[in-house]
Amino acid sequence: MPSDPAAPHFRVERLAPGVHAAVARTTGAALANSGIVDLGGATLVFDSTLTPRTGRLLARTAERLTGRAPAFVVNSHYHGDHIWGNGAFVGAHVVSTRTVRSNVIARSRGQFRSMRREVRHELPRLGHPRWPIERADVPQLRAWFRAVRDAPAELPIVPPDVTFNDELVLEGSRRAVHLLSYGGGHSPSDVFAYLPDERIAFVGDLALEGYHLSVGDGYPAEWVRILDRLRRLRPRTVLPGHGPVGTNRTIDRAARYLGDLLTLARRARARSIPSPEFVRTPIPEKYRSLRFTLMFPENLRRVYASLGPAGRRRSSK
Ligand SMILES: [Zn+2]
Repeated sequence: MPSDPAAPHFRVERLAPGVHAAVARTTGAALANSGIVDLGGATLVFDSTLTPRTGRLLARTAERLTGRAPAFVVNSHYHGDHIWGNGAFVGAHVVSTRTVRSNVIARSRGQFRSMRREVRHELPRLGHPRWPIERADVPQLRAWFRAVRDAPAELPIVPPDVTFNDELVLEGSRRAVHLLSYGGGHSPSDVFAYLPDERIAFVGDLALEGYHLSVGDGYPAEWVRILDRLRRLRPRTVLPGHGPVGTNRTIDRAARYLGDLLTLARRARARSIPSPEFVRTPIPEKYRSLRFTLMFPENLRRVYASLGPAGRRRSSK
């Protein structure tokens, strides 16, 4: 569909009748994946992408696929690439946990401003041979940074107006969507959507496919427990926050990645290796093909810090 203005940003994939994934292209401005569900009588979109522009394209795509403008936009967590498109869903309710709402209100405006400053500074340096960023990641980082640079300076921050703590079920004539939160793993509060009849889960950044997880704002041990509970729902199809559509193995791989990092950090602690040295640990062989290698040192730092204050060592940085 060459005339579709959404095509450069995401690829639409049908997961079941009335259930679609908008899978972000690595060279587009959406950055994060979204789900589109025809509930029967109402349309739900899961995550609104990085920018109002891609949010509008997503809203239009959802309308074309379901015959209705979306009535609900769910936010998996408060990070910008999942919520900055909220304002494009005119007339829709934005749904998430109370904690996501308070984080959006308290942090999103500041985060957008600092990211805009940062991308202006970083864009000219991207792809420079002396700049320590994996070459394979450069085109995607460039698309991401440009999208933030080109977004409106006064980007509308639209926080959730329908909130819950643990679970909210949206019932349509065609199907129900269970919105669940098992607490904070990747962020202070993470929401996923589960469609029990189809065994489809939209999991936001709780699991990624082909990317390093982003642990910098997370709670690694709690995250592992969340993934264990999520696995018990036995999802067959898993839409990760980034990367192609996966399966229940996507959840397993995320849990294993976190487990491996926790093991590395515990060993380093046991050998009294300080954090600044630990974060220089090379990426283990089996994770070398993952995208966004720049996440790895920050992931190590956070996992190490999550183990609590170091025993007898002095706590200076
Ligand atoms: Zn995130």
